[in-house]
Amino acid sequence: MTHDAEGHGAVLEIDLAAIAANWRSLSARHPSGPVAGVVKADGYGLGAPKVAAALHGAGCRHFFVAHPQEALAIRDAVEGAFLGVLNGLIPGTEDALVRHRIAPALGSLAEIDAWAAAARRAGRALPALLHVDTGMARLGLTPEEVEAVAANPARLDGIELRYVMTHLVSAEVPDDPENARQRDRFAAACARLPAAPRSFANSSGLFLGPDFASDLARPGAALYGVNPTPGRENPMRPAVRLLARVLQVREIPAGATVGYNGTWTAARPSRIATACIGYADGWHRSHSNRGEACFDGQPVPLVGRVSMDLTTYDVTDLPGIGAGDWLELIGPHRSPDQAAEAAGTNGYEVLTSLGRRFLRRYRSA
Ligand SMILES: *Cc1c(COP(=O)(O)O)cnc(C)c1O
Repeated sequence: MTHDAEGHGAVLEIDLAAIAANWRSLSARHPSGPVAGVVKADGYGLGAPKVAAALHGAGCRHFFVAHPQEALAIRDAVEGAFLGVLNGLIPGTEDALVRHRIAPALGSLAEIDAWAAAARRAGRALPALLHVDTGMARLGLTPEEVEAVAANPARLDGIELRYVMTHLVSAEVPDDPENARQRDRFAAACARLPAAPRSFANSSGLFLGPDFASDLARPGAALYGVNPTPGRENPMRPAVRLLARVLQVREIPAGATVGYNGTWTAARPSRIATACIGYADGWHRSHSNRGEACFDGQPVPLVGRVSMDLTTYDVTDLPGIGAGDWLELIGPHRSPDQAAEAAGTNGYEVLTSLGRRFLRRYRSA
């Protein structure tokens, strides 16, 4: 597979066709309205302009990012699409948002007032979402702020209210009673605000049933193959494959240790494969002595500490592995969720941590 990977120690393959297929399958789950593509954090680490273009090609017409500059990075790739900035209106970014017709998710009275003022300066209505806090306590209007808007709807003059949105706290835990409480708080807030379409579910929210449907769903992680239904079979197609090249395989005697601080000791004469990836590539040190790779579908345990540029595996039981072979760290045999579990995190963090040194190869949509 790898003749064009000469000179590279690790290859990240991104399957844009799978991402587009995942968007289509999520759309089929949400008949109440369109499904957006959340492409913040550079498309969950996979390359926002390419991911956004692939989603746009599949028919996606709504995109969300976290920062204004992330919106600018994809604006050309999604010409004409609705583009929302989830982190809200950062002072000083109004002009760029106005110029590129980007909608901030207004999450406080101060942001509402600043955007209304920008509309007066621009001399035209400006698109926005209203972000209502229903339990996350990070961003969004508090119940008191919702009442302040209800008491004085003229505060929204000049704002073209495209959506009222909120964000679920525990959507991936279907029996968490907070889900229903958020649904009810959201309905109550919407009833107090001027009529507008609603945006509710993230990836996992799309699997919570019709009560969580809205006019616009906002999945991110599931598009990229992260399991939106943890503990159940993953309904999404894998979209990422991460391969690291074996640089050397060495024999060590029983009793020898591997890596910094000798945290792993060979219990038997062992063969150690050293692969060309480390924590500088986003393969976190927390994988040390816990992670796993795959070779020919067989699991290969990670032993010793992950170091900056290298990671070591016990391949004693797989005599076929030699220098130049490629270990699969993420792929059809090992999901981002499995990698995350070993490292004590979630698939989101595994993907968004993926580094810049990989040869990136895109399979087109
Ligand atoms: C990140 C984010 C999403 C997407 O969430 P996923 O769990 O990746 O589907 C949706 N809405 C908001 C407000 C977000 O911050």
